[in-house]
Amino acid sequence: MRSPTGENQLVSNLTKISERQFREYENNYNKKMNSVGLLTGLFLFNMYFIADVIYVPEIIEISFLVRAGLVTPIMLSYFIFRNWALESDPASINHEIAYTVGGIIITILYFIVFSSISFASTSLYLMHVAAMITYMNTVHRKPFFLHAVGTVGCLMVACIGMYQLPITPPGGETALISLLTISLISLFAAYRINQAVRRDFITTWRERSMRAELLRINLELQHTSNTDELTRIPNRRAFDRTASAVDQRKLDNFAIIFIDVDYFKNFNDSLGHTVGDDCLKQIAICMQAALENTEHMLARYGGEEFAILLEDCVPDDVQALAERLRRCVYDLNIKHPARQDNLKNVTISVGWSMKLAQTETTVDVMMRADDALYDAKDRGRNCSVSHLKRLA
Ligand code: GH3
Ligand code: MG
Ligand code: MG
Repeated sequence: MRSPTGENQLVSNLTKISERQFREYENNYNKKMNSVGLLTGLFLFNMYFIADVIYVPEIIEISFLVRAGLVTPIMLSYFIFRNWALESDPASINHEIAYTVGGIIITILYFIVFSSISFASTSLYLMHVAAMITYMNTVHRKPFFLHAVGTVGCLMVACIGMYQLPITPPGGETALISLLTISLISLFAAYRINQAVRRDFITTWRERSMRAELLRINLELQHTSNTDELTRIPNRRAFDRTASAVDQRKLDNFAIIFIDVDYFKNFNDSLGHTVGDDCLKQIAICMQAALENTEHMLARYGGEEFAILLEDCVPDDVQALAERLRRCVYDLNIKHPARQDNLKNVTISVGWSMKLAQTETTVDVMMRADDALYDAKDRGRNCSVSHLKRLA
């Protein structure tokens, strides 16, 4: 046996993707085209009534009854059944099973119409069945096994019908062979269409999953490029981007807080860089907690410096937050063995400023906040200073 390659390999991959997903995709895609096919088929089928009126007036009554009274309602009720089936399960094949059974029933009805013609010709009857099978296999798309069931069912009805019709002129067997050939060809066409559709689905599915994967990687990259590796909070790049977005939105009220760890070089020198890293992480966690789930953005601005951007705020709130930050770091109680003052803990100095004039940008406010931070250092560290008003 040949090993599956190319197209077959693609099709066999489908089982890995999920037959259910495929059915949903097919149902969705087929809804419109199958409806057009059905309405066209119904129209052509009823057009035969004109032929009956002209050529075989003796069957007008039965023809009308079958076409208008049975086949048309059967085909129209298919739409209702399909809606119900798809509403109860988008991956359903129940409507396609109903379609197949309906096709076989319509073939039986052909046989009933033909059985009332006094000069019925077998080959004419078989031609109608051939048209029916070809229509079912090529116009309407459904799972391949249902194409096979429909074809075999209609062929069985045709065979039974052929030997039951009142007149079976010579040539019936030849017509039957032709019917078999046409049926097999159309069944093969159905198989090819099915394969192409599945291959299409796999390609679409792959494209979609690749796009989703790309989007995921992109988001991950974006997150990585905006996150500080050590503290896992936003980095300077993310801070600057948010700041420029604030400028673009021309916000009236915003404040910037700069935070710097005091005597951190000495801390590192006496305890080592790894302990220093751990200290920075603890400070970041504690300040994040002090922000109390507000939208304000805390970022590591560089080295042992942090920055916070506050939108829509009033000076009292900013000062309260600055003090809360200073206090929470002090309360971490991280021992600092090498300070140049009397304290024994790791502390931070805080400087902040707000937008003062309509024309000011975040850069102007940052410069003032930086000045305030220098003031805090000058005042002996472990304090928060506003550019607006020096605070103890
Ligand atoms: P001041 O109170 O004036 O701010 O003094 P300082 O020692 O904190 O300031 P200085 O700018 O002299 O030193 C900052 C130190 O921060 C130097 C550097 O070793 C340390 N530092 C910067 N980034 C990191 C880091 O990622 N990890 C560690 N462990 N230390 C860092
Ligand atoms: Mg510094
Ligand atoms: Mg420092």
